[in-house]
Amino acid sequence: MTSEAAGAGEAGTNNSGMTPLSLSPELLEAVHRVAGTEHLLVAMDFDGTMAPLVDHAADSRALPRSATAFASLAELPQTTTALISGRALASLRAVALPPENTLLIGSHGAEVWMGPGSSQLVLDDAQRVMLASVREVLEEIAGEAPGTLLEDKPAGVVLHTRLAADDVAEDAVAAARAVLQDRPGVFLKTGNRVLETSVVHASKGEGVAFLRQATGATAMVFAGDDTTDEDALGRLVPGDLGVKVGLDFTQAQFRVESPVHICELLEALLRERKRALRS
Ligand SMILES: [Mg+2]
Repeated sequence: MTSEAAGAGEAGTNNSGMTPLSLSPELLEAVHRVAGTEHLLVAMDFDGTMAPLVDHAADSRALPRSATAFASLAELPQTTTALISGRALASLRAVALPPENTLLIGSHGAEVWMGPGSSQLVLDDAQRVMLASVREVLEEIAGEAPGTLLEDKPAGVVLHTRLAADDVAEDAVAAARAVLQDRPGVFLKTGNRVLETSVVHASKGEGVAFLRQATGATAMVFAGDDTTDEDALGRLVPGDLGVKVGLDFTQAQFRVESPVHICELLEALLRERKRALRS
């Protein structure tokens, strides 16, 4: 027996007898409980949660099983789906190809799409000037740090260091922080090999609170993998379900290892939600 087969045997198999089940009984019980709520909001981070992390942001795609389960959830009554991402909305749409009625929060909460006719983010003059100045600072730093690159967003500039050597990445982020961290009107976030700058104060926590209020959800599910997702996990309330992807510190009630487990989570949620809506 291979170690893989042994692992699958320990974890059990589903009805098909093919796929190992790896979600803990406690997590499955929590899925069952949240699926019974009146109006369910399923809000997911994208990169590193629905989609495995990749070196080139444009190549990111949801795992097919997650995409399928999420799309099926989006079609259920009294069930709202949302993506809450650090990506700019346009970038999120391009990689996530979200179901038509899925609500979108981009730029860590600075951009919101609640359906056709949603208003776009507009910066005021001071914010535009500040954004240009932040870009100048980061251009200079990135120019001297091989492997780093900049990404423009509607409200900020991101310094990506994933492809840089570790020491180069650390120095670049430290240099950017030193110049920008005390600037009024500039907000910094450190993520997984990125430094995010924004001239709009926003967080995924505000995104979660906004979605809860706007949808009238009676309970929500949120899963995320990065430090910025902790803002969202911190805004969950009893009756919600929060899941951390990966091994870093978290305040989430539950933890899974990788986006593959999010496939299982979404499939379990779909199954339980359908069951709850029938009864
Ligand atoms: Mg993520």
